[in-house]
This record gives sequence, structure tokens and C-alpha cells, in this order.
Amino acid sequence: MASPKYIKKYVRQALKDAVLRSAVDNATQSTVEARQEIIDQIPHWEGLRQKCHAIKKEVIDHLDRYLEQFEDQCIQNGIQVHWAIDGREAQDIILGIAREHHVQKVVKSKSLTTEEIQLNQKLIENGIETLETDLGEYIIQLMGQIPSHLVIPALHLTRKQIAKLFHEKIGNPYTEDPTELLKVARKKLREKFLSADMGITGVNFALAETGTICVIENEANAHLTLSLPNIHVAVMGIEKLIPGQKDLSYFLNLLAPNATGQKSSTFINLIGGPSREKYGEGPKEVHIVLLDNGRSNLLKDPKMREILSCIRCGACLNVCPVYQQIGGHAYGWVYMGPIGINLIPQYLGKAVGRYAPYLCSLCKACFETCPVRINLPGHILQNRKDIVQSGHSQWVEKIGMSVWGFCAKHPLFYRFVTWFPGKLQKLLLKEKPFLVPGYTRERAFASFDSKGFRKQFHRYLHQQDSFSKRS
Ligand code: SF4
Repeated sequence: MASPKYIKKYVRQALKDAVLRSAVDNATQSTVEARQEIIDQIPHWEGLRQKCHAIKKEVIDHLDRYLEQFEDQCIQNGIQVHWAIDGREAQDIILGIAREHHVQKVVKSKSLTTEEIQLNQKLIENGIETLETDLGEYIIQLMGQIPSHLVIPALHLTRKQIAKLFHEKIGNPYTEDPTELLKVARKKLREKFLSADMGITGVNFALAETGTICVIENEANAHLTLSLPNIHVAVMGIEKLIPGQKDLSYFLNLLAPNATGQKSSTFINLIGGPSREKYGEGPKEVHIVLLDNGRSNLLKDPKMREILSCIRCGACLNVCPVYQQIGGHAYGWVYMGPIGINLIPQYLGKAVGRYAPYLCSLCKACFETCPVRINLPGHILQNRKDIVQSGHSQWVEKIGMSVWGFCAKHPLFYRFVTWFPGKLQKLLLKEKPFLVPGYTRERAFASFDSKGFRKQFHRYLHQQDSFSKRS
């Protein structure tokens, strides 16, 4: 099982994989272009971002109240509400519902929250056939992988790789034609939808005022998952709430352009309870599992809780120069990119997640892009600070920073260490740059200036002084 503890190893592997890098680069570039094209047509884009930021802030700051309201409304609507403190409890609740109803077959629509709690493994280990029905997620399941993007799970794969996979695992004649591949998947999935006993979905938004769950998608697989089987289980992180229907309209305008570069998502499912007798179709039971799994801890931290506003649109991944080079699997968990490196140390702890916040060049492209204006670079810096203060930084960094601290407090020593490397480079290397293991394998190390920083700075101050006297 992958873990963010081994991020360094995964990054090295990803950087060596030219096929992966080209697939990720092509996919992210085309999504970024499509997003920009749509956004240019939407008036008051900045106003919309600010509005959604304010709505999420209000909910996150008063989450207890909104959760209680949502629970009351769900119960009134006939939805059965379950609370899960962590992934294990959520797994047990869902397995319990399945056992109670003698469920043998489950269909699922794409849900990062269920990936987070490793629900598929749990159900399969307990003898329940569990099938992902979103095309990208179906491909990933066939490959035995986890998603490599928040919205486009198979973004790292080429058409050739998918054609080979289908041919080997499903047994259809080899074809690289996307329409043919789609037909193969559709035939396979339709059979499963019709025979499934339980459907499991995630939740994009939950409306506190009405106890309504909103599931957004493009393929109608979520619609079939939540409407054909007799039991529907929705799994949601407690942060997915918004106040009501009027707020939903703002988020619908934001989500599709940022997620897939579309003006609008194709299907918006609003679930307000089990099917009513007069309609004669739809699930007889609807359950909602409200998952904490580290979110309450994040909520307690006023500096970091803004991260809970994330609507998982994936836009920050597409613009991130680090993600563009390494793809999603290198992060070692289900959340990746700028939002992932903020969530990993928060949800999995600093010991496991101590490398994650360093997968960032601090270019701030994510902050400029995020539709709910989460200050991702600010939180990345805060995460780094917390990791250092909790004693989880690397020993090289600890030694380096102690030496730097000592030099900064002792001006004579500081003068020496800023003067000496330049002289050494001149004498020993004839001005050629130093070789630093690891670092100079990919790039040249900057040359030290033999004049030293202090001399240059004094010269600069002197120039400024004479300039202001003249003028
Ligand atoms: S942090 Fe912002 S841009 Fe990134 S996935 Fe979340 S909402 Fe989208």
C-alpha cells in the first residue's frame, strides 16, 4: 500500500517515467486551456469566487450548527444518518448495512471520500462484489491503482495503455478507438447496474436547510448507481455542507469550469430521501454516512480550517508545476497536488506527511486559480512550520538551520562563511560551480560571488545615498 512516507521514492520513479510525464502534461495543459476559455465568458468571475469563499467560510465557522440542521432535515426526509469518527468506523457502518440486507453486489460511483477510507478493499475482503462505474475509476480499478487526479482518475494513462488493459482484462478484440472502448465498458457496467443490491456514491454538496444531497457527474453512472439498487449509501466528509439551494447555484457555476473546463456539468442529482410509494421506483432506503476522519482536528485550528472549504474541483492540480511533472500517484495518497499536500499532514499526521508540503515551488498559481480562494501557499508554509516545530523535519535541514541560526547571530562568523566559499571556489575549482550530491545531478549550482554579499550590499547602499543627494 502506497504511503506519503515514501514520497521521495515515488517522485524519483515518476520523474523517470517519460510516458507518464507526457500524459499528465498533455491532460493538464488541455484542461487549463479549456478552463480559461470558459472563465473568460463568465461575467463577475472574481465576485463569484468571493461569494463562494464567503459561503464556505460561514459554514466552516459554524459547522456544528449546520450539521445538526442537516441531520434533522435528513431524518424528516426519511434518510438514515450515521456518524463515523474515522475510516474504520465508516467501513463498519457500511458493511453492517450491507450484511443486514444480504447484499452481494455493490456498484459505486466516483467518490474520493470512499477512496480515503479504503471502502472497496473492505467490502471485497468480506465477499461483496464491488464495482466502480465511473469510466476513469473503472479503468483504475481494473489496473489495481488509486486515482491520480481528483476529477480525472485515469489522467496519467494513454489511450494505448487503456486499450491494452481492456484487451487483457475484459477480453475484447484490441482497439484504440475511444468509442469502441466506451461501448465495451458500457456493456459490462450496464449488466452490473441491473443486478446490484446496493449503490454507493460520494456527495459534492449537502444542503443543510432541506436535508438534500447533491451528486454531480457527466456520465449518468452516478444516477444509475443511486436510483437502480434498492439501497443507496452516500458517504460524505462533514465539510461538504452549504446552507441551502440558493447557495448551490453559485457553486454549480464554479465547479464545472474549474473541474473539466465545461460551462455546466451534464447531470446534477438532488436526493431528498428514499423513493415515495407513488413513484414506484428509486431506492427503498437512503443512508448517509457523515465522516470525520481528522476533519474536526483541522476545524479546531483557526489558521488551517480554511482548507475544509475545498470543493475538490482539481483546478489547483492542473496549474501546479510540480503535479504537472509527477502526476498524482507520487503523492502516495488519494489527495494530491496543492490541496493534497495540505491535507496529508493534517489527516495522516506529521510523521507520515512530513515530506508532502515540500512538493511545492511556492509559485502561487494554485491560489490564483482556486475557485473558493483558499490560500493554499499560505497553508503550505504553515504546514512546513508546524512540521519543523513538532520536530519532524529532516536531520539535514535541522543541522543546516542550526548552522544558519548561529551564523546569523554572530556577525564575524557570518562574514567568514559568506566570503570563504567564493574564495574556495576560485582557488580550487577555478570558478567552476560546486557539485552537490543529488542537487547538481539535474542542474548547476549557482556560483558564489567572490566579493561577498556584504560588500555588494554596502556598495548598493552607497549608490542609493549618492543618488538621493544628487536629486
Ligand atoms: S483547493 Fe481549490 S482549486 Fe484545489 S481542489 Fe480544492 S477547491 Fe479546487
